[in-house]
Amino acid sequence: MEEIRQDFPILHEPTPGGGRLVYLDNAATSQKPRSVIDALQDYYETTNANVHRGVHVLAEKATQAYEDARIKVAEFIGAPDPRSVIFTRGTTEAINLVAWSWARPRLRPGDRIVVTRMEHHSNFVPWQAMARAAGAELVIADIRDDGTLDPDAFQRALDGPVKLVALAHVSNVLGTVNPVADLVARAREAGAVTVVDGAQGTPHVPVDVEAIGCDFYALSGHKMLGPTGSGALYGRLERLEAMEPFLYGGEMISKVHDDHSTWAEIPHKFEAGTPHIAGAIGLGEAVDYLRRLGPDRVHRWESDLATYTAARLREVPGVRVFGDLPERGGAVSFVTEGIHPHDLAQYLDQLGIAIRAGHLCAQPLLRRLGVTAVSRASVAFYNTAEEIGLLVDGLHRARSFFLRG
Ligand code: PMP
Repeated sequence: MEEIRQDFPILHEPTPGGGRLVYLDNAATSQKPRSVIDALQDYYETTNANVHRGVHVLAEKATQAYEDARIKVAEFIGAPDPRSVIFTRGTTEAINLVAWSWARPRLRPGDRIVVTRMEHHSNFVPWQAMARAAGAELVIADIRDDGTLDPDAFQRALDGPVKLVALAHVSNVLGTVNPVADLVARAREAGAVTVVDGAQGTPHVPVDVEAIGCDFYALSGHKMLGPTGSGALYGRLERLEAMEPFLYGGEMISKVHDDHSTWAEIPHKFEAGTPHIAGAIGLGEAVDYLRRLGPDRVHRWESDLATYTAARLREVPGVRVFGDLPERGGAVSFVTEGIHPHDLAQYLDQLGIAIRAGHLCAQPLLRRLGVTAVSRASVAFYNTAEEIGLLVDGLHRARSFFLRG
């Protein structure tokens, strides 16, 4: 563990109070290992040029590095062909790509889109907007009180003219790991195209898009050790080939005539303009790091640590932890009687403990949980049980600070 923590320079930065940093906001964004930071610097110092159009040495080197990163991401998620991986700014852009390029031209009045109650706004609002624009119906499959998806509610939602099903691999609020392969199989049986929001999937659980069987899988680089502004969309080749472009401009065309244009082959058809080259390369390096550690090991460690976190938090009087789960992605959300989540986060911050507070971009879920805001501790593989102990101590101190008298 000490060796792993040494790889992350920011974990050794002193906090404003002079103490050590306890970073438990990994679901918002992960910290970056030295190898990723070095890859970014090295790219700008030795390789920087635009990709795909230059004939000089640097342009070729940059293109090679960028395309190598695509191969790494494809291998990491079990995509059989690197052309099925489109670089995006993250999950939000990846889902919007599917919404605008696949769904918008295909949705008809009366069609149904199914999402789950635990979706992040990124995998909810685009579908709500597309449904409204097309006169289609958005159906929300509910969760059970233990924080898992209700399989009967999901099945009922599929009983109708369902065109698309969009669901999270792992919940950013509850930490629920959805049985995506099973859910996708059922959605496909109902005739739906499937979109999996993998923003919390790729950082925390082994991902194999072929085994999941989905049509699309979206991921964020910055949540899995990569740079901000990096991410990807996996899509089945035949789906991507049948889709219109998302953004128009340079790099995505084949021929531009005065009155019409033709498009480049995939994946370039979906990568208009100069991409985030350094970001993609940094993401490739992040994937290398995760593969060295082993996604299975990462998942076991994080799931155990998150389960331990939930158990320790439940021991604190007045704390209510959401989700009673056999395994977890990194996230554990809770409320503390008498202390607003924002006040708690601010108090803990003074102790050097970084957690998240608010609606966590999941207002439909929070309404179901009966709250408007929660506190969330979310772990990564570089977090320790000792740090969870510090969180729990901090919570006890917060209780005596806020609830005294
Ligand atoms: N989906 C989930 C489950 C998330 O946790 C997040 C980020 N919090 C997103 C989507 C959006 O990711 P990004 O902001 O990187 O586009």
